[in-house]
Amino acid sequence: MGVDVAVRAYRRQFARPLKTAHGSWRWREGLLVQLRDSQARVGYGEIAPIPWFGTETVADALAFCQTRGGAWQPGAVPNELSATQFGLACALADLTAAIDRAESAVPSDSFANADICGLLPTGAAALAMAHQPIARGHRTLKWKIGVQAMTEEIQWLEQLIEALPHDAQLRLDANGGLSLEQAEQWLTVCDRINADPHVATIAYLEQPLPPDRLAAMQTLAAHYQTAIALDESVATLAQLEACWARGWRGVVVVKPAIAGLPQRLQAFCQAHHPRVVFSSAFETRVGRQAALALACHCAPEPAPALGFDTQGWFADDWDTLTPAELWDRL
Ligand SMILES: [Mg+2]
Repeated sequence: MGVDVAVRAYRRQFARPLKTAHGSWRWREGLLVQLRDSQARVGYGEIAPIPWFGTETVADALAFCQTRGGAWQPGAVPNELSATQFGLACALADLTAAIDRAESAVPSDSFANADICGLLPTGAAALAMAHQPIARGHRTLKWKIGVQAMTEEIQWLEQLIEALPHDAQLRLDANGGLSLEQAEQWLTVCDRINADPHVATIAYLEQPLPPDRLAAMQTLAAHYQTAIALDESVATLAQLEACWARGWRGVVVVKPAIAGLPQRLQAFCQAHHPRVVFSSAFETRVGRQAALALACHCAPEPAPALGFDTQGWFADDWDTLTPAELWDRL
């Protein structure tokens, strides 16, 4: 079929910078893709790279789309451009659904907060804010660590655990920012907390060490009771496959928007049944809907809380717009 490809860049500001061990994230940049067929039916996709997770840059993605605009079939995109693979594949799936007049696979954000992991602000601000997601019905919360002094962060963790209901679960995300010694100290504290049945539990420590320290993280996973999850280590499907081949069977956090071709991710999940937790890449509603659709198809049973508490983090009204409305704004 004859299909025109158009690409528009976006740049949106976080209402408050997202602070992680990678630094402070102030602006989310990415691309929207529109495919239009000869009968003016359109499909939208989103390319939302995170270069510090090892993906391509927005400039890489834009250069590919502009110079290879004719070769927009997702299968023609090299694996190094994993976010581009996702965005073009989703645009094609959306166009196909428009042609078939099919409904979207996922009703628009129909998830209960109990199914979504609430994202706490980094540092001591989490203590003042923790009651808010709990009041909204979240039972799993995420808190970024490895940003401030460890002794302070551990004190805040102890206070946070006391403030949470005993049935709550807390995910600690170090974003690869800990040393081995620090990871051991954190896991010792987590194991002590998790040995107490009367307080909230630490679901896992996420990506304690950088991605090149897989063997050390496997050793940690074997020595401590508290689970370890990989995130930066498995940013793309190729990395996920490599970690799986090296024997990792623990939790993996997968951001569909940067993982690569959705069909390949789905096939991997169906073949291996990894302990996958699906997560947002702070994409717009366009990428979010596609990522959630994939998560619904691939999540294990019972499904862990989805890491998609990203709405309301931006200083704009884009979450209220349809894909076509957002496209027209750019
Ligand atoms: Mg993470």
